[in-house]
Amino acid sequence: MSQDGSVAICVVEKCVHNLDNQCHAARINVGYEQGHADCATFKTKEKAA
Ligand code: SF4
Repeated sequence: MSQDGSVAICVVEKCVHNLDNQCHAARINVGYEQGHADCATFKTKEKAA
């Protein structure tokens, strides 16, 4: 299932797509992990370098 929307605020500061608590990814995928929904587009800034 796919649904369009936007991320208003994200507090995952170590994500490369996060700039001032705003998500700048063109789109995100949401997965289900360890009993809760989670952002599957997350990428650490360390891995991106
Ligand atoms: S990609 Fe996911 S974890 Fe990263 S800033 Fe956007 S919503 Fe947050």
